[in-house]
Amino acid sequence: MPDSKSLAGIPLRPANLTPPAPVFPWPSPYTSAMFLSFDVDAESAWTGKDPSHAQRLVTMSFGGFEARVGTPKLLELLDQLGLRATFFITGWSVEAHPAMAESILHAGHEIGHHGFHHLTPDPHDPFIEEELERGFEVLKRRLGVAPKGYRAPSGEFCEELRASLVRHGIVYTSSFRDDVRPYRHRLANGAPGTIELPVTASYDDWLLGLTNRFSPRPIFAREHVLSIWKDELDETRDWGAMVTTVLHPQCSGRPMRLRLLREFLKYAGACPDLWIATGAEIACHFAKHEAAAS
Ligand SMILES: [Zn+2]
Repeated sequence: MPDSKSLAGIPLRPANLTPPAPVFPWPSPYTSAMFLSFDVDAESAWTGKDPSHAQRLVTMSFGGFEARVGTPKLLELLDQLGLRATFFITGWSVEAHPAMAESILHAGHEIGHHGFHHLTPDPHDPFIEEELERGFEVLKRRLGVAPKGYRAPSGEFCEELRASLVRHGIVYTSSFRDDVRPYRHRLANGAPGTIELPVTASYDDWLLGLTNRFSPRPIFAREHVLSIWKDELDETRDWGAMVTTVLHPQCSGRPMRLRLLREFLKYAGACPDLWIATGAEIACHFAKHEAAAS
């Protein structure tokens, strides 16, 4: 329960002091965008919540599905549709499943940083820096990748993380839920931060299609999810804005979910005004317009 002392410590200002997102045109002939992205957590989705899950083999098998089935099926689908995406991968997943990580890279997709053990970056947590450094080290050593993009495990952020990512050379982040256009973070000290490609919460498949005894949720039918995803996309297209997906191979790589994703991506791919792009491509486009505007 909050007490009056802790409530008195909350500053009377917006939590994110970043100015409103600038309105830049999307690359011609497009007038809206979709950042197609996946989060590859594998078993670290579960051990990041509770390390003792490592001994719970069926709980772990939800994550193990990614390497055995989910990721290969998603790569096959993207190849069939001629789409390239961004895969944010935990360092642990790369170490434990190197062939899976290499298959994503060799299929031409972008690799992003997603922590090492999928630990939620909470304020003042001493593991934030270690998580970042181990993640960078594994991506470099195993895949030869210096990632441009970062997505926070469990989608949480704090000021220390925001500043540290700039020091590490991260160009863009994709975790905040507060806009429908890219914007440039402003750090607490007023310095420029990373480019943010905001997440569209309704495109997080975990919330709609995965249930487990440690993550109990209702599962929604194809018609229900397609209705949400198409309405979100069509209204965003009318606004000239962008959507960002947060899809997980342990969810969307399952047969019923893959069928649904195929139908949605075919629909999105047939929208002539919609630019379906990787995070690096959208961040590069933003940076070009930002430089021209200044
Ligand atoms: Zn994740």
